[in-house]
Amino acid sequence: MSPRTIQRNSRPNTTTMAQLAAWFLGTSVTVSILVFIVLFGQLPAFGAGPLGAANRFILHDIPSCLSSLDRRICGGKLCPIVMSIGDGLMNKKHPLVLILYLVLMTGGSYLFLRNGYTEIPNEALGSKHIYLIPLTILLPYVALYLAASSDPGFISSHNHHTAMSLYPYDQIIFRAVPNPEECRTCRWAKPARSKHCGLCARCVAKMDHHCAWINNCVGTRNTRHFLGFLAANAITLTYGTYLTYHVLYLKMSGSDEDQLWVRWINTMAEYRELGAVFILCLMCSLIMIGFLVAHMYLIWAGTTTNDSLKWGDIKYALKKGTIVVFDDEGRGSPTADYDATRWPWGGMKGRRRGVIAVDADGNVPEEIRDCITNLRDLENIYDRGFLRNMTEVLWPPKLMANMLNDHTALC
Ligand SMILES: [Zn+2]
Ligand SMILES: [Zn+2]
Repeated sequence: MSPRTIQRNSRPNTTTMAQLAAWFLGTSVTVSILVFIVLFGQLPAFGAGPLGAANRFILHDIPSCLSSLDRRICGGKLCPIVMSIGDGLMNKKHPLVLILYLVLMTGGSYLFLRNGYTEIPNEALGSKHIYLIPLTILLPYVALYLAASSDPGFISSHNHHTAMSLYPYDQIIFRAVPNPEECRTCRWAKPARSKHCGLCARCVAKMDHHCAWINNCVGTRNTRHFLGFLAANAITLTYGTYLTYHVLYLKMSGSDEDQLWVRWINTMAEYRELGAVFILCLMCSLIMIGFLVAHMYLIWAGTTTNDSLKWGDIKYALKKGTIVVFDDEGRGSPTADYDATRWPWGGMKGRRRGVIAVDADGNVPEEIRDCITNLRDLENIYDRGFLRNMTEVLWPPKLMANMLNDHTALC
């Protein structure tokens, strides 16, 4: 028996490994698709398509089906328990997800340093990687600190007036007819593009979303740090994929008669810790790049995650015919009471249009002159072109009218 045969026989069965790899790959792809549908299925771009339908099926149809099953089988006792656990995890601010991120990132880095870093330099990876690797591992931690500790643009009584002047109401996704909507918790008029975060219990200017990974809101003041966090993770994880791939590739052995992917799977099975780091880096880098691209798309489109959900509602309503549109030329600005000196930076594009819903009886207001059914006929006044949108993200308008007072108010 040759040494080569002995080595191959000591490895896990090739067919079993191939099945395991296929199962893992299938599961990973399915989970990634489900996460994407849940997070982005409500965006206007997907709302009317199969992704939007899948989103509604997962978030509305399945829970209501389970609820009716619970009522029939358990007398409705199970749902409240599940809901309260889910409520604690989903609707209360806690650092569990942030801790999970730190465990995964630190654990992955440790496994790589123990199994991969010691193999460098080698014939594929030069000595420069010895210095690059520690810096790249540190990058996400610095980005996380900035994103998690930064003020997203919390609105206080001291800066509410400033927040009101940041953006005008477009009368489409942020309406102020006859008056701006009031935040029922903070008891003040909601500034355009703001949203009250139930987890942080604060209104946030130009709210994007509350991110569990950074345990903080993403708003006008820290979208740049959030983008930095996504970019840092995308860079580190892609670099980690590249490094582990090369280290594993050099360790690859086996018979030349075997297909390359079979030898690759066997190598990952033999060097399991490094194989796990490779798979973790590969999957998470794809997800992070996906998030980064999605957020760059939002900036390009002049929206936020919160804005785009509202655009999705408008699109749906237009399709159903429950919203009609009319020219609002000559209408008094609802923001006239506020010093809207910050907008528009460079002038409006074209003529604005307003949106108003039909009343409960389905009656259409008399002044309507134009009726449209397509979202493209509506102007997004917050979209000022990619470069200006990006500039606004990187150098956000100051929100704090009085830093000292506001800081005191926040404390
Ligand atoms: Zn509020
Ligand atoms: Zn929040």
